[in-house]
Amino acid sequence: MKKNTLLVTLFTASLFANGQSAEIEEVSITASKEENTAVYHASAPRTTDVVHMDLKVSFDWEHQYLNGEAVLTLKPYFYELDTFVLDAQGMEIKSIAESGGGRNKTLGYEYDGRTLKIAAGKTLNRSESMKVKIVYVSKPNELEVEGGAAITEAKGLYFINPTHDENGWMPQVWTQGEPASNSVWFPTVDQPNERMTHEIAITVPKSYTTVSNGRLDFTTNNSNGTRTDFWLMDQPHAPYLVMMAVGEFASQSDEWNGIPVNYYVEPEYANVARKVYPHTTEMLTFFSEILGTPYPWQKYDQITVREYVSGAMENTTGVIFGDFMYGDSLSWADGTGEDVVSHEMFHHWFGDLVTCESWANLPLNESFATYGEVLWKEHMYGEDEGAWHSYNDLRGYFREYNRGKSVDLIRYDYESVLGMFDGHSYAKGGRVLLMLRTILGDEAFFEGLRVYLEDNRYQSVEIHNLRLAFEKVSGLDLNWFFNQWFLAKGHPILQIEHKYDRESGQQIMTVTQTQDLSEVPLYRLPVQVDVHTSLGVKTYDIIVDREVQEFRFDVMSKPFLVHFDAQQYLLADIQDNKPADFLLHQLANGPRMLDRYEAVEALFSTNVVRMGTIVRICLKDDFHAIRMMSLRKVPELDSVEANKVKSEVRALLTDENTAIRSKAYEIWHEVYGEGDAAFYANATETETSYEAKSGAFDVWIQLDEAAALTYARAHVGKVRGGLETSINIALLQDPSRSTPDQVIGYLNTAGVERQPSIHLWLPKYMIQLNESDFQRVYSVTREIQSGNSNAEGYFNYGIRIARAGVQRELQNPDLSEEELNERKRWESQLKVLLDSE
Ligand SMILES: [Zn+2]
Repeated sequence: MKKNTLLVTLFTASLFANGQSAEIEEVSITASKEENTAVYHASAPRTTDVVHMDLKVSFDWEHQYLNGEAVLTLKPYFYELDTFVLDAQGMEIKSIAESGGGRNKTLGYEYDGRTLKIAAGKTLNRSESMKVKIVYVSKPNELEVEGGAAITEAKGLYFINPTHDENGWMPQVWTQGEPASNSVWFPTVDQPNERMTHEIAITVPKSYTTVSNGRLDFTTNNSNGTRTDFWLMDQPHAPYLVMMAVGEFASQSDEWNGIPVNYYVEPEYANVARKVYPHTTEMLTFFSEILGTPYPWQKYDQITVREYVSGAMENTTGVIFGDFMYGDSLSWADGTGEDVVSHEMFHHWFGDLVTCESWANLPLNESFATYGEVLWKEHMYGEDEGAWHSYNDLRGYFREYNRGKSVDLIRYDYESVLGMFDGHSYAKGGRVLLMLRTILGDEAFFEGLRVYLEDNRYQSVEIHNLRLAFEKVSGLDLNWFFNQWFLAKGHPILQIEHKYDRESGQQIMTVTQTQDLSEVPLYRLPVQVDVHTSLGVKTYDIIVDREVQEFRFDVMSKPFLVHFDAQQYLLADIQDNKPADFLLHQLANGPRMLDRYEAVEALFSTNVVRMGTIVRICLKDDFHAIRMMSLRKVPELDSVEANKVKSEVRALLTDENTAIRSKAYEIWHEVYGEGDAAFYANATETETSYEAKSGAFDVWIQLDEAAALTYARAHVGKVRGGLETSINIALLQDPSRSTPDQVIGYLNTAGVERQPSIHLWLPKYMIQLNESDFQRVYSVTREIQSGNSNAEGYFNYGIRIARAGVQRELQNPDLSEEELNERKRWESQLKVLLDSE
């Protein structure tokens, strides 16, 4: 599973664009800080075993029900049983009978809305199985949690616009099983350590496409005008990976090594379906080769659905994505869903073929999928891009740690299953795999993965299985590594000091582990240190494994640089007080992109002389993140230094990176006063990405507001990405720029897909209107939101943004009486919106 962080990103970007720095509630799940007694979450005991499921489903679109008939082949896992126990959430059970061999004997059962206990009528041993036919109705929208609240995030089965409302999306049905929601739409043992094969027959209107796991075995046209598709999954996998998606989808297809690869999209995207899921077949080839294990399943389907509750999900052979995957050539110039495609595909080895035994072991799924993204980046775009992706994982983990979450990577004492899907299981775990690869070397690492996959295919694993595979291959004991990284919390916090001792001719480096040793391990860290002197670079392999350690390097003269962790691989907070001359040497001579990045970042926080020269060099760096960091530094330079880098900034107006071009427009105008309205108007029109267009547009509207607003009105609701945000802000921040009738017009012409982002800015616009206009716009938004829950979600976020803004303004002591009263009126309008939320 890949969580969706796009909305959070959108906010950050929007607030920057707006020049605001409002304190918005951060959209994140953080662990409760209450002191709970640690609970041991064991792997689910295996008693009832579902060997095979033969499922027939059809839909009651009007009531949003699924009519199901499941024939389960059940057996005791090991110990004898006379009662089978299944998960079945919120179903109406019609009948249960023994099936097969001409039998149809009614079976007794008990059902409490969650657990279904079926009396087998005899005692079975583990060599005996029994077929049980369960006829039921699944009612996902009537499912309740304790206390009667409706479940929104764990319904398992979702009907989107089932009644074909004109304001809504194309009608569709899709499922989301992880962690334990598939038992809403079929009875099963809903645990990650269960394994079953299955066949699913889906009956739909003829115009509908169905997608499910495995291969499409055959199709029949029914006499009532419907069609039934028979999907066969003959390789066992865990129940949470079972999927189904239904709707009037279009597709493009490829074949890879004799298996079908299908790209499903809504009809509007039929011509670009392959581009929605970039590099799919190349990834299948790359991952198969690097893992020494060919892609192990029958086909590879990818489909994008509306109102998806997660980012994407690795259902075996049928990946479901949220609608952020859709785009056009201008948005894809800014970025595609490629990382997500690689993430979900890598799960087909780590997660689907070999599955975590319990949610405590989730990093065995998610750390790998996260590291799969890094491997793909490195392969496709080179070492620097791989390193950058992994570095961002490192930062992601530190963000979560700084918000107060620090837990073991493998956690038997987790507070909630959903809390396992966090920056530890994904980002930290991915980074730990990078460390393991660096320590073992590529050959041992990938051979270890091959052995792990081979030894455990179709099985569930816990962390020790991974260690044993690497030990088997490398001949090394790895308990020390797994204990400190997978089975403990925290990370090393290293204080590093450098001193040159002229008398002994030695460079002395002191490393102190300053983490709280009552909570976090004292680490064993194999590290490379590069010592740069006039004679060249000498690499030392050292082991940091004590609280305070001194390392002495024989040198002929004072070194230019002592580079701790020259491989840039540690997951650690390294506080290395390098003097400026070390940093300058590292910038000029560090072989890796991260050496330069780290040096520039440190230099920019100092008052080093000739900053303009450093900025000038870095504006020409090969790597985009270094160019961008330097570009952001330009406004801080004094005018003499700024003028020294003017030609480099000019060159960035045509940089290959679209975010850099966007920023360069802003700086070209703000710092240098260069370019007239016609220049930025032309750039807005001709730029080849939305992000770059937005940078030009934001300057254009300052220079020629009337012309830029005309452009905005012509493009509102028709563009995406950065430009969409810029235009919406331009038109909706201030009622003097758009009349209520114009805004109602934008809403009515925008189309269902682009309405949400307009809704984000509407609350701020609306509260500034008089009462009757407020009500007029409000009623239109309510109608649209009734068929478009994305719009509703964005609108609700918009209310919070507006509230933060009004509250901030109310604190301003310089407001006049009139201004103060106006803001108070805005506050009361906001209350209307908040109450309706
Ligand atoms: Zn995942």
